[in-house]
Amino acid sequence: MTDKPFTIVRRDDLVPLCPHCGGELTEVYMRTKGLGFVEAQNVLYFCPHCMKVLGFGQSRMI
Ligand SMILES: [Zn+2]
Repeated sequence: MTDKPFTIVRRDDLVPLCPHCGGELTEVYMRTKGLGFVEAQNVLYFCPHCMKVLGFGQSRMI
């Protein structure tokens, strides 16, 4: 285990690229999977260019 400091730099001026098609992710599509609006839902993030999934997340709708 190293104790290297980890720095997070906010760069709102940079546009991330899709790892699948290389398209600029000026926006990311998301859709929720699951029923019910009270419980936490699984959120699917995907590329608007190639529709490939970029990642999963959880959103709590309270
Ligand atoms: Zn893509």
